[in-house]
Amino acid sequence: MLKIEHIGIAVKELATSIPLFEKLLNSHCYKTELVESEQVNTAFFKQGDTKIELLESLTTDGVISKYVDKKGEGLHHIAFEVADIYTEMDRLKNEGFILLNDTPKKGADNKLVCFLHPKSTNGVLIELCQEQPNLLS
Ligand code: ZN
Repeated sequence: MLKIEHIGIAVKELATSIPLFEKLLNSHCYKTELVESEQVNTAFFKQGDTKIELLESLTTDGVISKYVDKKGEGLHHIAFEVADIYTEMDRLKNEGFILLNDTPKKGADNKLVCFLHPKSTNGVLIELCQEQPNLLS
């Protein structure tokens, strides 16, 4: 894995969390993006080489709203950038980790993503992500 690409934080409402994180980080949210595949609205901050991704559920029964109901707002996942997501998924599967999807999904920020089940990673939800250079706008 190359580096921590971003840290995902589950929030109830972007409308209140964006201003909060703008104050906290002293930087502006540079992008919001709706991610159909995950039924979430996201907001991004860039701090040096790492991003912060705020996640707000679009539905009351989505994974993020379930998470917030159960655990409250807070740290949701850590995303690692990988050079080749297919190779990394194979490697991790062979090492006994449980992948939440068998093929990469289209995630936020023009990425191919795959999540690892927290029960195989000491309770930490891990996301793998790989940039899709051909789709850069
Ligand atoms: Zn993420």
